[in-house]
Amino acid sequence: MAEIKSLTDMQDLVALAKRRGLVFQSSEIYGGINACWDYGPLGVEMKNNVKQLWWRAMVDRDDIEGIDAAILMHPRVWEASGHVAGFSDPLVDCKKCKQRFREDKIHDENRVAKKCPNCGGELTEPRMFNLMFKTFMGPVEEDAAVVYLRPETAQGIYVNFQNVAATSRQKIPFGIAQIGKAFRNEITPGNFIFRTREFEQMEMQFFVKPGTDEKWFEYWMEERRKWHLSNGLRANKIRFHEHGPGELAHYAKKAFDIEYEFPFGWQEFEGIHNRTDFDLGRHQEYSGKKQEYYDESDKSRYIPYIVETSAGCDRTLLTLLADAYRSEEDRVFLALHPKLAPYKAAVFPLMKKPELMEPAERIYKDLAKKFRVTLDETGSIGKRYYRQDEIGTPFCITIDFDTVEKNAGVTVRHRDTKEQERIEVSRVVQYLDDQFANW
Ligand code: ATP
Repeated sequence: MAEIKSLTDMQDLVALAKRRGLVFQSSEIYGGINACWDYGPLGVEMKNNVKQLWWRAMVDRDDIEGIDAAILMHPRVWEASGHVAGFSDPLVDCKKCKQRFREDKIHDENRVAKKCPNCGGELTEPRMFNLMFKTFMGPVEEDAAVVYLRPETAQGIYVNFQNVAATSRQKIPFGIAQIGKAFRNEITPGNFIFRTREFEQMEMQFFVKPGTDEKWFEYWMEERRKWHLSNGLRANKIRFHEHGPGELAHYAKKAFDIEYEFPFGWQEFEGIHNRTDFDLGRHQEYSGKKQEYYDESDKSRYIPYIVETSAGCDRTLLTLLADAYRSEEDRVFLALHPKLAPYKAAVFPLMKKPELMEPAERIYKDLAKKFRVTLDETGSIGKRYYRQDEIGTPFCITIDFDTVEKNAGVTVRHRDTKEQERIEVSRVVQYLDDQFANW
């Protein structure tokens, strides 16, 4: 059997994403804008699949509620959260080649020597650079009108804790989940959609009684690991990295990154944090509104601890794409789990002739009642397979003359093995259902 290779060069994935309509550079006809990307027809399908799977796993449970908070928030929120004072990265410039780096991301050897990783030139002293995007609310551009584009979705959850607790009838322990855009004026964006200036987060904040936080932290680490594996990520390509004392954020008692082994190294794509009572405590202090919880079970009153799971939607998508990328001698394919694939199946009439088109359309419509499918009648069958392989369509169904003349069923071709089998026309829907159920 021919050798099947995994992704080794991100450019291969970027090129595939572009030629198949997954992801485009933002404002491309104007030369593009750095670190902003647009999702094309198939990219948005796949991204929606990621979001739906996350929502189903996190919110379709008795102990979590969803919300959708505004991107613009009262500016005091970002003082309370610590972002105005502390959400900054140390920025250094190379005096020679003028490249800009995040000091904390420069390879250790270079940092000690204070050398530019690009040209070996001398670096400037670090300057702290706030990552929040600022804008003005209302018609007057003055300091009093400054608002920020949220750099994380979590704060929208904290400030609604009392609202949700009062209206949802949830009792601690319970969580609040949200998916939404976040913005960071990153110093060194890059690696395609890995680090961008506008991105989406999928965050869940779980409110617990102090003293039970460590147990819940363990619980959520395991849940999140299971979720990523259930999406088909290869277990040997993910690992948990615990933050050491120097890495821990000011609010965190314990933190783990879930990392994936990209072609550019092991990188975080989700964080799990024990944030203690820092967030609600600060909002109580800055807003003057009590953020305590009255626990009926033992008549106690406390500010809840928070265990957070914080995933980037775009970064999760990138992880899934990078993990699924395979190349063989004669083709590239995405070995995506069917629940993530933009199309679950493609229907091909062997030729564009009415006697084949008519049954093909019938089968297509039948399948479309249940699955997201595509009908493709252009080009050779080989080319059509190639196209579907590259976007990760798990099955291709071909209608040929035997289907019509001999009632001999259709050919179903499997993406990963290229194996083909004949299935009766009346069994096609059931066949796919069974395949997906047992994937
Ligand atoms: P990093 O150290 O990579 O900048 P972080 O530790 O600041 O990330 P968090 O604030 O914990 O990241 O954000 C949670 C998740 O949000 C990350 O795991 C990542 O998936 C996503 N995320 C954060 N920043 C970006 C970005 N600029 N582009 C895309 N996704 C991002």
